Amino acid sequence: MLMPARIRLFTHRFSSLLPPSSSSSLPFRNSTSHSASPHVSATKPPKLSVSDTAKFAQTILFIPPGINPEKVTDNMILTSSNIVLGPYAGDAKVKEVQFVGSSSRPKDCPKDDRPEFATLGRSNVGKSSLINSLVRKKEVALTSKKPGKTQLINHFLVNRSWYLVDLPGYGFANAPESARMDWSSFTKGYFLNRESLVSVLLLVDASVPPQKIDLDCANWLGRNNIPMTIVFTKCDKMKNSKGKRPDENIKSFQELIKENYKIHPPWIMTSSATGFGRDELLLHMSQLRNYWDN
Ligand code: GDP
Repeated sequence: MLMPARIRLFTHRFSSLLPPSSSSSLPFRNSTSHSASPHVSATKPPKLSVSDTAKFAQTILFIPPGINPEKVTDNMILTSSNIVLGPYAGDAKVKEVQFVGSSSRPKDCPKDDRPEFATLGRSNVGKSSLINSLVRKKEVALTSKKPGKTQLINHFLVNRSWYLVDLPGYGFANAPESARMDWSSFTKGYFLNRESLVSVLLLVDASVPPQKIDLDCANWLGRNNIPMTIVFTKCDKMKNSKGKRPDENIKSFQELIKENYKIHPPWIMTSSATGFGRDELLLHMSQLRNYWDN
């Protein structure tokens, strides 16, 4: 039963990101180009007719299962994301979290088929901070941060019903090329064979311009049909006049993805420093998870 659910989820979850003006020329699932504003939210409603609204929703937003695109209204869109909240959202509170164990090989991971979300990102992206913020516990995520150390897949059981998984980081600044390659051989097996994986949470630092290694990683996941949500981190970091703002970096990231992607995943802005986006991300995860469970 798991694979059909995952496949259905995957096909529902992806919509390309297009500005309203160009959306009408491309079909929903076969769209090959897009661009996006990170400010798709209730505060900036596009002035569109009803049918145009449906087209806009189909092409720029992530429409979860159970939603008629024509019925999407602005207040159903999670703040600072392209994610529409649907009927499966709920049970987003984290009441209990327990560390289950570390696996040195993908085949050693828990085998109970509970749905899971895997966090992935460049070293220093804010992965530990995000995990700790999601579960509201300090230092739950104690992943190895040194290149060359044993890389482990850490499983945390949340509310005794779903897993939050901490994957090894990639792109250590001082790591030799061989250490970078190790990441892919180690983690590839997990992605390709983990049937209970509901979504990868690919963390991307919004306080810096798009990095090639993040784009490479996103490309690999996309090419291999691994469901993912892009979680932009450090969105509180406002740069001085020289640097780009998080929303500008996010826009650039979307533009670069446009070159390489046929379809585009849901995305959301977060900050572990302020808690921005935390509850919204948990709601998004709840709707994917609850749909999976049904
Ligand atoms: P990891 O290597 O991906 O686990 O990253 P960490 O969670 O250890 O964070 C790396 C650094 O970024 C630390 O100095 C954090 O304090 C900082 N950091 C993490 N998240 C945020 C955030 O949301 N905003 C800001 N301003 N800094 C953050």
